[in-house]
Amino acid sequence: KQILVTGCNGFIAAWIVRLLLQKGYTVIGTVRSEDKGLKMKEILKSNGLGEGFDFIVVSDIIKEGAFDEAVKGVDAVIHTASPVVLSSEGDPQEIIQPAVRGTRSILNSTLNHGNETVRRLVFLSSTAAVLEVQLMPNIFNEENWNNESVKEAEELGRKALAMSKYRASKSLAERSAWKFVDDNKDKLKWDLVVLNPPFVFGPITHDVRDPSALNVTTAMMYDTITGSGKYAQDLTAGNCWIDVRDLAEAHALALEKEDVANERIVVTAGPYLWQEWVDLANSLAPTHFPSHSNLAKGSPIPDGTRPSYRVMYDTSKAHRLLGLKYRSREECLQDTFADYMARGW
Ligand code: NDP
Repeated sequence: KQILVTGCNGFIAAWIVRLLLQKGYTVIGTVRSEDKGLKMKEILKSNGLGEGFDFIVVSDIIKEGAFDEAVKGVDAVIHTASPVVLSSEGDPQEIIQPAVRGTRSILNSTLNHGNETVRRLVFLSSTAAVLEVQLMPNIFNEENWNNESVKEAEELGRKALAMSKYRASKSLAERSAWKFVDDNKDKLKWDLVVLNPPFVFGPITHDVRDPSALNVTTAMMYDTITGSGKYAQDLTAGNCWIDVRDLAEAHALALEKEDVANERIVVTAGPYLWQEWVDLANSLAPTHFPSHSNLAKGSPIPDGTRPSYRVMYDTSKAHRLLGLKYRSREECLQDTFADYMARGW
């Protein structure tokens, strides 16, 4: 089976591609430039996965018909390409437009040029499209929709919180996907599956020259535990998380399982406070990250204390439909450290 993965050189997509190749699929990835595709090929080859992957350059995903060639003949599509940018100054439309129009673009191309072969389109959304900040603290589920960030981005424009602009882009993009499917239900020969993960952490398998070039969420982890850098987070804050390799597995399951057709599924290993990651990093560092002896400390959480979390998600749907299992924080961070050590960071 041949799968098209958009934005295949990103942090998450690179793991999806790797897993699909390991499972025996062939993969076509879209990238914005030739050099990114060649780099991706080189990395896969160095991991013994050189066969079965090819790429196609889609330089501007917003352009009408951008994916027309890419979707031809594939059995399924995984759409991940979307800006993950936290901009405190930019116009929200700078990320909303590529997110929403890129989504419409892949859906249109799949309908117009992939309808005879494609059976499913898996859309990588986010809990950004689920979380209703005004209802925190809470346990959210697939019934929740983040309309608040959309309103904030509309009303405050550039002055909206950076995170709200990003969340608005994901919420609007996912809405547009469901609307497209509803508007075209008489014509579509494929179904839509939406995955909604929260913060994604873990080792990397895409092209990153040094820690300053990490994608936003792994940069948050790196900066927070090392205690420096622009993405260092407030240690009393937190959210929910998933290991990137489990998220890749969720995509593979979403391709394979019959029952997930036209479902929206939240996938997460659970909640965290940044202080918990910092405490764990300090306990692992002497053996697993000896290159970094001076990690952030904050106010360590005393043993036996149960932190209270403001954001949680009910994951029973993912359990029921995907049977997804999650790596622990220890495994995620140990493997991340091993990866960084191997890179000489
Ligand atoms: P990355 O920044 O590593 O990857 C983003 C991918 O999207 C890259 O391939 C990038 O291409 C492409 N992209 C970005 N902006 C555009 C644009 N304007 N036009 C075309 N392509 C674009 O981030 P992640 O791997 O973390 O994110 C991938 C997806 O996962 C996104 O849809 C994101 O919203 C979603 N997600 C991420 C979470 C996380 O915690 N990381 C959580 C939940 C969802 P290029 O390399 O050329 O810039």
